[in-house]
Amino acid sequence: MTKLRLAIVGAGPAGIYAADILLKAERKFEVSIDLFEQLPAPYGLVRYGVAPDHPRIKGIINALREVLDTGRIRLFGNVLYGRDITLADLKKHYNAVIFATGAVRDAALPIPGTELDGSYGAAEFVSWYDGHPDFPREWPLEHREVAVIGNGNVALDVARTLAKPADDLLSTEIPANVYEGLKRSKVTDVHVFGRRGPAQVKFTPLELRELGEMRDVDVIVHDEDFELDAASIAAIETNKQIFVLNKVLNSWRTRESTGASRRLHLHFWAKPLEILGTDAVEAFRYERTRPDGEGGVVGTGEIREIPVQAVYRAVGYFGSPLPEIPFDSRHGVVPNREGQVIDDNDEQVHGVYATGWIKRGPVGLIGHTKSDAMETIRNVINDQANWWSPALPDEAAVTELLRSRGVEYTDLNGWRHLDEHELALGEAEGRLRVKVVPREEMVRVSNAPLATAAGPRADG
Ligand SMILES: Cc1cc2nc3c(=O)[nH]c(=O)nc-3n(C[C@H](O)[C@H](O)[C@H](O)COP(=O)(O)OP(=O)(O)OC[C@H]3O[C@@H](n4cnc5c(N)ncnc54)[C@H](O)[C@@H]3O)c2cc1C
Repeated sequence: MTKLRLAIVGAGPAGIYAADILLKAERKFEVSIDLFEQLPAPYGLVRYGVAPDHPRIKGIINALREVLDTGRIRLFGNVLYGRDITLADLKKHYNAVIFATGAVRDAALPIPGTELDGSYGAAEFVSWYDGHPDFPREWPLEHREVAVIGNGNVALDVARTLAKPADDLLSTEIPANVYEGLKRSKVTDVHVFGRRGPAQVKFTPLELRELGEMRDVDVIVHDEDFELDAASIAAIETNKQIFVLNKVLNSWRTRESTGASRRLHLHFWAKPLEILGTDAVEAFRYERTRPDGEGGVVGTGEIREIPVQAVYRAVGYFGSPLPEIPFDSRHGVVPNREGQVIDDNDEQVHGVYATGWIKRGPVGLIGHTKSDAMETIRNVINDQANWWSPALPDEAAVTELLRSRGVEYTDLNGWRHLDEHELALGEAEGRLRVKVVPREEMVRVSNAPLATAAGPRADG
């Protein structure tokens, strides 16, 4: 019977769901799957993006872990595609590769002043509070007034984390340095800006409602933002989600101030124009907008400024190019037709597939990566005639290759050790988990039990 030796690059939800779907799919061949991940731990943005105070969503890790625990997938963590393993290597050892490398960077906000001190991308801040090993351990939180630009759930995560009392995050898995940083934060006012109106926000109701439930935080909305046009009224009447969002927002219009020590202001109809300051951020300038009657907005010419000392740009994520793989730099994705990667001439690149955020762009929830993976896997299966013919398909050849290059990879047993270690650190402090942050420490804990002077663990 033929065997499909498949490499998947990226152990976020998209990569893991793809492996799971392939293993369960009806097919006429055997499969052997190796999952390569540049971080020492799996789960992508579920571990390093989803907010720590969302334990229910973080719990999706348990379902992903069950897939890995079937023992039918080998995990190679701490292995960067493009440096530790190349396309030529993959062609030598596998029949095909699926790229599931997601998106980690901030999309650009094309206004002046984004280079000033105190102007941050949301992705950097998220990576800090979620303990990503490749980001600085310290975060400057000495500013009193801050702006968050964006009207999606990431903007809400950022605003909530900035406004929430640090002690209310202590039961979560935030690393110790993050708790201490947030505890020292001087923030008093968080201003969230959206270009459009309350009926066009991209929040989800649960996340919006949470803002109003924070201890010692007053949520402030402005009556002038609620003069709705016919298109907004129609959206509220016909779309249940918008109806609920609107109800939540309206309930805050009549709320009395409690004199809380922090305030979270929501501003709508505000188009970003410029971040002002000499060296560091001093203010945010925006133009009031109004509905254009077709679901969009136009500027009114009314310019406003608000004093802030920091600006967080939460206007979306963006994918990164992968060495030797076609890239659409306009949309930040690997160009593809239903997961089959295509080149500049629209021709299929044989043996190369994509799934998840790098396939369709950084929008959508974790669950969406499952339907993505179904489509990609269907094409991998149907494409058998176009698979590569590897010279060295033997499973042991890959571990030998990585060892010969001195790559200190982690594996599934290693992840189990790290997981247990983090849970034990948490238990000792009466917390869910305490994340290990430095990469070397993650690798050391993962590989410790069987580590030898010769290098990393051999089992997997
Ligand atoms: C801040 C934030 C909060 C979110 N909150 C929620 C939420 O509450 N609920 C929800 O449903 N969704 C949420 N999402 C969306 C969710 O995280 C995504 O839908 C999902 O993670 C996308 O999965 P993915 O596997 O495509 O990408 P990712 O999760 O990004 O995984 C990609 C993986 O590939 C690895 N990788 C990248 N390049 C390489 C390389 N060259 N070599 C090896 N490995 C590589 C990365 O390290 C990463 O582990 C959130 C997203 C963000 C940004």
